[in-house]
Amino acid sequence: MKVVKIEKNRWETGLDALCDAYRLFGPVKAKEGHELKELAQGEFPDYNMLNTRLSPKAIAFPQSEDILEFSLDPNEEDHHIMKEVVGNLTPRAVIGMRPCDARALALLDLNFDTEEYKDPYWIRAYEATTFVGLACDNPYTSCFCTTAGCGPYHEQGLDVLLTDNGDHYLGKALTDKGQALLDSAGWNETVDGEGVFADKQAAAEAKIVSTIETDKLRDADTLALHGAPFWEDVSFACINCGTCTFLCPTCWCFDIQDEVHGRSGKRLKNWDSCMFPLFTLHTTGHNPRGTKLQRTRQRFMHKLKYFVDKYETGTMCVGCGRCGRQCPVNIDIRKVCDLMNSHAAIDSCVTEG
Ligand code: SF4
Ligand code: SF4
Repeated sequence: MKVVKIEKNRWETGLDALCDAYRLFGPVKAKEGHELKELAQGEFPDYNMLNTRLSPKAIAFPQSEDILEFSLDPNEEDHHIMKEVVGNLTPRAVIGMRPCDARALALLDLNFDTEEYKDPYWIRAYEATTFVGLACDNPYTSCFCTTAGCGPYHEQGLDVLLTDNGDHYLGKALTDKGQALLDSAGWNETVDGEGVFADKQAAAEAKIVSTIETDKLRDADTLALHGAPFWEDVSFACINCGTCTFLCPTCWCFDIQDEVHGRSGKRLKNWDSCMFPLFTLHTTGHNPRGTKLQRTRQRFMHKLKYFVDKYETGTMCVGCGRCGRQCPVNIDIRKVCDLMNSHAAIDSCVTEG
């Protein structure tokens, strides 16, 4: 694969050149940590961070998105007819997302773009985006990507992978889209950089000391895990704030709502959370997940068992560690995963015995 060398003193010139062809997004310093946002002309990404506080999923799955619009004014042509809202699909590029987040978006794509069901809003936005990753040489101590199907130099879901190599970046084009971006930026000094990537990858992976065990989840009995005794303890402190689900790059639940102002209205797709009681409340008043134990269990069972069984691509968790770092009561998916995996191991011994 072609590797180019990008001198840091040519970095901003290249980004300026990209502005002619792409809307650029990148991490910038915010009130709390770094956030991924659209860069204004002359604004550049700031990589003085470990990762962004929120994941980049909003690039193709906004927290609130208009999907349909309608008029209730009988004097207007087409009144009372829903019309599709097609957002701004100008090509865009995310410059400097972490590899774990790129894999996470590839997992979201498994849900939003299937044979039976296609979400046009996700698909159009995902396809309009070129994903440029910045390899992660200094992970959080709470990152556990290497045992969650991922890693600091993981390439899945990326079009270009960059690594910071002192006074320059090395950039590896992983797709035609990625090559087109490097060409547009004028970053075309080809070098033999595969060895540097390999050495830096090994060094970065050695820094990931936090791990999870997932080997027993696939064969575990679903009902046995669902009925395991530890859910009471796991959920005890949870306040169902939903922070974990909103921060998580792989959580995809949403709700559809209509809003009417005067005689015009719109239909919105909004992030929702399995941690909220209203999420599953039926109009009859019945709620199949009416207790916090049920809701907390659902979150972990979905990520670590149902998804594993359905897609056979590992867990619905890339090990970014955001949920554990931000949970106000310190509920840690690594501990829950270990409980589930250990329970599955005991259960299989009992069954075999
Ligand atoms: S962030 Fe923590 S307290 Fe809030 S819903 Fe998630 S697990 Fe519960
Ligand atoms: S560590 Fe938490 S926030 Fe990150 S992918 Fe896994 S479940 Fe989501």
